[in-house]
Amino acid sequence: MSTHLSSILEHNRKFVENKEYEAYLTSRFPDKRIIIITCMDTRLVELLPKAMNFKNGDVKVIKNAGGIISQPFGSVMRSVIVALYELNADEVIVVGHHECGMASLNADHVIQSMKERGISDEVLSTLEHSGIKLTKWLRGFDNITSAVENTVSIIKNHPLLPPNIPVHGMVIHPTTGALDLVVDGYEKE
Ligand SMILES: [Zn+2]
Repeated sequence: MSTHLSSILEHNRKFVENKEYEAYLTSRFPDKRIIIITCMDTRLVELLPKAMNFKNGDVKVIKNAGGIISQPFGSVMRSVIVALYELNADEVIVVGHHECGMASLNADHVIQSMKERGISDEVLSTLEHSGIKLTKWLRGFDNITSAVENTVSIIKNHPLLPPNIPVHGMVIHPTTGALDLVVDGYEKE
């Protein structure tokens, strides 16, 4: 067993034994009725909830690389829809961040790394021929503000979004936690 795995399991036994989970007891329904879509960046793991005053039980958090929705019928949007219809959420905040790895992501570089790590040209060309455009699939974004605006717009214009759901956009600083408001979802369009 790897060091990580064994240390996680060892910690876990004590965590449960000592009933440390009692500090986190809550329900699956978000008390603040908010959905946060944000980036998987390591700096935001604890910083974002603290900077936005969220604790366990307050919000639904959906994370991916960049905190963006690239497909209206992909898994992130499905999570938003499920949270809105089934889990009592009624407001969405998209939180991008400065210095995001997805801003500088170079699809060609990722594909080159895949080749170096043993993914064959044959696999890559089979994917291309079956309609999966890797350079598009791996594309990041140029500007975090417009990436947040674009994700807000995909949610706002989704045909399955219930009426009167405010969708906001923000950008957080990964060091200070400072938030810039990009889209105020309460404003009339
Ligand atoms: Zn990021």
